[in-house]
Parts: sequence; C-alpha cells; structure tokens
Amino acid sequence: MIQPQASIPAEMDHKKELLHVIYGVYARWVERFPLACRKGCAACCTNSVTMTSLEGEIILDFVKGTGREEWLLEKLAGAPPGKGWGAITMNQFAGACLNHQEVDRETTAGWDFTPCVFLEAKVCSIYEVRPFGCRSFGSFEQCAADRAAEMAPIQLTVNTVLTQIIEHVSSDGGYCSTMTDILHSLVNSGICNEKTHLLPARPLPGFLLEPHETKEVKALLLQLDGHFSDKGIFGDLIDNFLPI
Ligand code: SF4
Repeated sequence: MIQPQASIPAEMDHKKELLHVIYGVYARWVERFPLACRKGCAACCTNSVTMTSLEGEIILDFVKGTGREEWLLEKLAGAPPGKGWGAITMNQFAGACLNHQEVDRETTAGWDFTPCVFLEAKVCSIYEVRPFGCRSFGSFEQCAADRAAEMAPIQLTVNTVLTQIIEHVSSDGGYCSTMTDILHSLVNSGICNEKTHLLPARPLPGFLLEPHETKEVKALLLQLDGHFSDKGIFGDLIDNFLPI
C-alpha cells in the first residue's frame, strides 16, 4: 500500500513564511472561543513547552534582529539541556495510534514544570515569536495549580493537526524537543544528541480526527491554502489525508 504524502517546502524562508501563516490563521480561528487567558496569566508557561527546530530558527531570527544574543545565552544558562521531555514526537504518537500500537507510558514522563525562562514579570519576553505550543494554550477557566485547562474538543483537535503539520514541515532534517533544548542545540551546534533529547521530526502519518471534525479541519486547511498562489503543502494534505 502506498503511504500518502504531502510536499515539504525546501527553502528555509518558505518554511518560515508557512509557519507565520499558520500562526496568523490560527490566531483568528481561535477568537471564537471565550478563553479566560489574559496578559499576566502564566500558569501554563513552563520549561516543558515543546517545539520544532524551525520554530527555534524564528526565535533566533528575532533575538538576533533585536541584538539580544547575550541575553538569550543568559536565559538558556538558567535551563540546562536535557532536563526532560517525552521520547516520541506528535507524528510518532499519531502514527502509533493510527496503527493501533500501544504507546509506552514512559514516553510521556519527565516533564519539567519550572517557569519558562522567557517569562519576565509574568509576561512573555518573546511573545511575537513564541512557538505554536504556546499559541495553542487556552482555557475557558483561569488555570491554577489545582485546576487544569478546559478547552473545546475541536480546539484540541486543531492544535494537534497544526502541531503535526509544523512537525511535517520540519521533517527534512529538523528536530522536536523542549523549547530550551532546541535553542541550546541551535545556539551551540545544531547537532542532535541524546543529552538534549532532540528527536528527528517525522513526516505526517495521517490525522487523528473524529468523522464530525473533518469538515472543520478541512475548512481551516483551505483557509491556509488560500494564502499561497501555488498548490503546495495544504492542498496536498487535503487531497491525500482529507478526501471527501
Ligand atoms: S515562550 Fe512565552 S508564551 Fe511560551 S511558555 Fe515561555 S513565556 Fe510562556
């Protein structure tokens, strides 16, 4: 059986453009939910936030553009690499689920809930370029130590879909890990090693959708596709993974 595939932009600039489009479209899509999230509410800002190396490149561009390379090194010094993350990526997890394989519980252990190094007076110091993992946080009720986030199931689904796509776009040599481990690797060497828990990004194996969610996800991908003149990744995703 031939595995469905979607194209991946080869140029780094095109990948970054694609990511910015995802950030913008998602920000408008999520406005429909009456979320309690406000500036200064930072319960979800921990060192367990994950991202791809592509998102790390965008953060580095921002840091360099504002002349804050030393500032970044000081921030990273407060979060030694390899403090923890799961052992599989979102696309690996989706692939295992789609193949009806059990996921080892150990693979989701090891989270680090210390406050994110980029929090300054409860405000994000890299807000403009925060990764998708941060953008997709949300809750109907304000979070607290004893109260988890409450989110609409369709938001959770869309968050997973876009996380998978971002990983897919990075899967021609990029990595997934915690935000700090990715930044450590980009600043120091860009080399994948066990200590920093970098995992190679994987291509999309398919989406984890309930039948009633397909229409909403397809509409979102069409919206994303509408930002590009040529048929590219989003058109491929619709054709290959979301047939009528
Ligand atoms: S990068 Fe910003 S939004 Fe994301 S966890 Fe850190 S402080 Fe919070």
